[in-house]
Amino acid sequence: MNGGDASFRGPLIFLGRGAAFNPLEGNTAAYIREENRLFLIDCGETVFERLIARQALTGVTELSIAISHLHSDHCGSLGTLLYYCRFALGIRARIVLPREETAYIGSVRRLLELFGIPEDFYSCVDPGEVAGFRAFSAFRYVKTAHDPRMECFSFELETPEGGVFYSADTCRTDEMAAFIQRHGKIAAIYMEALETDTPGSVHLPLDRLRAALPDALMEKTRLMHLSGAGCMRKAREMGFSIVEA
Ligand SMILES: [Zn+2]
Ligand SMILES: [Zn+2]
Repeated sequence: MNGGDASFRGPLIFLGRGAAFNPLEGNTAAYIREENRLFLIDCGETVFERLIARQALTGVTELSIAISHLHSDHCGSLGTLLYYCRFALGIRARIVLPREETAYIGSVRRLLELFGIPEDFYSCVDPGEVAGFRAFSAFRYVKTAHDPRMECFSFELETPEGGVFYSADTCRTDEMAAFIQRHGKIAAIYMEALETDTPGSVHLPLDRLRAALPDALMEKTRLMHLSGAGCMRKAREMGFSIVEA
């Protein structure tokens, strides 16, 4: 089993798979594009550049963006992307935020205000309003634990091939375990992992992730948000696969 496993067909296209200090691998972010519609998960510092380099934004008339949390490796180029939507694409971007998470919505709006983004450059839409994709029929935010100073979310998608779980930054496996419990059919699990178990770390050590995963789900699991070559080597030695970006 390795990161180049050609038989694996997850629904997401990755723009990067690095952790915050590993920008050469690109900030971890992924998207689904269908015709003129683009759904983007996270928008860290390297994301805008990679979207442009891949011409992923060309012809887009509807862009929905989910943001897991406000560390800048997950939202650092969001301001530039919103400017680009307004002035290059001529569209109003849709920031996907759970309606009930009013404090988080307020934080995202404040960040965009500090970036100089007028409120009419974007709209906030509920995850239930991300519709019209063949690749998935439902999208959800699930609150997780990461940096205690800020809110952080994992994501779930329901696809024709089964559930998809995505957690780029987390320090626990609880939400992944609950997702596994609720899904008889699983298409993919995308998780972050850290090489070592450091007390008080805001990330998830490889050993704890492996212990929480049933053997049968290893072939559905892909790692992302990796700190460097050492972490990738250890992950592969443990039988994990890594997303292609
Ligand atoms: Zn991160
Ligand atoms: Zn983070």
